[in-house]
Amino acid sequence: MKRKVLVSGASIAGPALAYWLHRHGFEVTVVEKADAIRSGGYPIDIRGTALDVVRRMGVLPQLREAHVDTRKITFLHADGKPVHAMRPETLTGGVEGRDLEVRRQDLAYLLYGTVRDDVEFLFSDSIATLHDHDGGVDVTFDSGTRRTFDLVVGADGIHSNTRRLAFGPEEDYHHYLGCSFAGFSMANELGLSREGLCWNTPGRNAVLYGIKDSDDVLAIMTFYQEEPPLRAFRDPRAQCDLVASVFADDQWEIPRLLAAMRTADDLFFDVGGQIHMPQWSNGRVALVGDAAYAPSFFSGQGTSIALVGAYLLAGELATRPDHTAAFAAYDEAARKFVESNQALAFSGRASLLPRTAEDLALRNQALLGPSLPSGDEGRAVNSSLQLPDYP
Ligand SMILES: Cc1cc2nc3c(=O)[nH]c(=O)nc-3n(C[C@H](O)[C@H](O)[C@H](O)COP(=O)(O)OP(=O)(O)OC[C@H]3O[C@@H](n4cnc5c(N)ncnc54)[C@H](O)[C@@H]3O)c2cc1C
Repeated sequence: MKRKVLVSGASIAGPALAYWLHRHGFEVTVVEKADAIRSGGYPIDIRGTALDVVRRMGVLPQLREAHVDTRKITFLHADGKPVHAMRPETLTGGVEGRDLEVRRQDLAYLLYGTVRDDVEFLFSDSIATLHDHDGGVDVTFDSGTRRTFDLVVGADGIHSNTRRLAFGPEEDYHHYLGCSFAGFSMANELGLSREGLCWNTPGRNAVLYGIKDSDDVLAIMTFYQEEPPLRAFRDPRAQCDLVASVFADDQWEIPRLLAAMRTADDLFFDVGGQIHMPQWSNGRVALVGDAAYAPSFFSGQGTSIALVGAYLLAGELATRPDHTAAFAAYDEAARKFVESNQALAFSGRASLLPRTAEDLALRNQALLGPSLPSGDEGRAVNSSLQLPDYP
């Protein structure tokens, strides 16, 4: 009989895991809190080993079509004067012509499309309780439905509900990186096309991103904050007030960004943070993607390690009938890769968000060199895992 797996979350890790589990002969159900695949989000990168995953899934040609092909990032001083312009790969460690940058929603829709006919999707629902026992996991959903699965996997992001239910509160695993960010879209009044602007003043950063030839640009404003601004969570007005107070005295386009933020219908606010866990499984419940090892956007690798993790978890479950052995093998196969990619966040943060005037001056000096430390380091780490072949 086919083993039944419930996957929580239908963004990147969830549908990728569902695809591989289905291909290995599992019966898969995916539950997603939103009423459809969620849109929005910055372009995400697929690099190194993750490219091999999407190639094996057969979606590489579609992803090449969706590649947003950003050609230039210009770093700006606080008054808006340019410091230096460069290819984005110099900063990220991506490889021009090989690595991919696609809108997060394009990847999510594409992955969903690979499994939507083969896998059961339950939208507008969420796991309410989990009861793990010898025979399986009894699950109650928010909708009141009760079902039993052989295994449950949380692919429900950095604030994972599955992790909370099976492993305990987020505070036990969340490592705050000392900063918060607000992302939103706004009119492309600067006429940016396939390019980004990266503005800095000590401890604050604003990025404007013109994706292809869109009429909108994505704006993201990041800032250091000693303590996570917990009071601003769940209250968009408090989030806007906080960002506005932090950037209140800044020049360049900042006043226009702050005004646009207040009327944006897609404001996305969160703290920069990582998830670190000593193990990614507990009984019959496991985690994948940001739920298990969110690296933060400073690493540029959240999507890639989610794709690689999904491939490895499904493959190990397929080759080992005992889920405990399979979960241990998944950990063994993925951990070094995951942790070295998480570590990239620190050089990424130093490049994007220098904290002091001295740090900023050093970063600006480094921009004028042949490549940034974050780029060199990233290139090696992104490709540091050779995918195993599973039957
Ligand atoms: C709307 C959105 C915008 C994003 N924007 C960016 C961005 O701009 N830059 C960036 O670097 N990363 C962004 N991310 C995160 C990025 O997608 C991930 O870092 C990475 O791709 C790993 O994906 P994941 O599938 O593990 O987690 P995520 O992409 O975070 O997906 C988690 C999924 O689980 C769902 N979910 C959450 N709680 C529950 C629940 N209780 N029950 C069922 N489902 C649940 C969510 O709705 C979501 O679909 C965004 C994610 C989302 C969902």
